[in-house]
Amino acid sequence: MSDLTRRHVLASGAGATALGLAGQLAFLPAANAKDLRKKGHYSYKIGDIEVISIYDGIWKKDHADNFAVGKKIPEMKSALRDAGQTDEFVPIEFAFTVVKSGGKTILIDAGTGGQLAPTAGLGAKGGLAAAGIDPKKVDMVLVSHMHPDHIFGMMEKGTNAQIFPNAEILVGETEYDFWTDPAIIEKLPERRKPLAQRIQATFPKWKNVTHFSGDTEVAPGIRAVDSFGHSPGHTSYHISSGDDEMMLIGDAIIVPALFLANLDWQLVFDADKDQATATRKGIVDRAISDGMTISGYHFGFPNAGKIRKDGNSHVFEPASA
Ligand SMILES: [Zn+2]
Repeated sequence: MSDLTRRHVLASGAGATALGLAGQLAFLPAANAKDLRKKGHYSYKIGDIEVISIYDGIWKKDHADNFAVGKKIPEMKSALRDAGQTDEFVPIEFAFTVVKSGGKTILIDAGTGGQLAPTAGLGAKGGLAAAGIDPKKVDMVLVSHMHPDHIFGMMEKGTNAQIFPNAEILVGETEYDFWTDPAIIEKLPERRKPLAQRIQATFPKWKNVTHFSGDTEVAPGIRAVDSFGHSPGHTSYHISSGDDEMMLIGDAIIVPALFLANLDWQLVFDADKDQATATRKGIVDRAISDGMTISGYHFGFPNAGKIRKDGNSHVFEPASA
């Protein structure tokens, strides 16, 4: 947890925002986001490390009371409008990341694999290829957590055959142990049982799965950072090269208009809601104090940018190459 909460003091007198961007991520007018979604990917650099974001689509989730715990639909609709978004549905967008570092091609999560919402799965349906990524040449897959929208892209529909057969797959130990415990299936709510069954039918049998625990360098320039709460062992990945850094926060924050703008709102899907809230606040604190770029799996597209304080609230300002 220390990595999340510590404050870096930038030695340079330059503004943290300008430094963090290092001229490599330029803010993009919101109007351009549509074109990027259509293109399906964009790339930028963190120091010497090339990062490619792959758009996987959207789940236009119907509104429901209590999606933010204790909140009614009108309150959530109002928060979406305040962020300049449509209030017709809750936009759960998906985007996963490819990092090229130390001569390796590294995926961070793998998309929905076209096995969830019909409007998602674009990564598997040509998005990866359009970005020049051959699944057989992926060296490593780093998993933030084992929810379907992050790992189904690693498995063929029907057969569960591996999509990235030559990759080393890394999963944090706490997350892995939770989902692969045979006793967990009975304890899970009905809607989560099929997920645990599918995980137990695949990961333990695959020979290319390894684990790590705690804050660890998992690949050149990439550190795993515990950010538990959304799931029992949720992991963020911190990328650094030279003076530049970025944190891929996975699902520590999902819809920014709801859960970044209102840091005390809790997501009904979070496994440990108080822990998830503390994690969220730690990330926001660090992102602001360090001027660190962050990237959220469900932030829409582009999904990398900065967090800015806005009165008592916070907003996400997307950036693009
Ligand atoms: Zn997710």
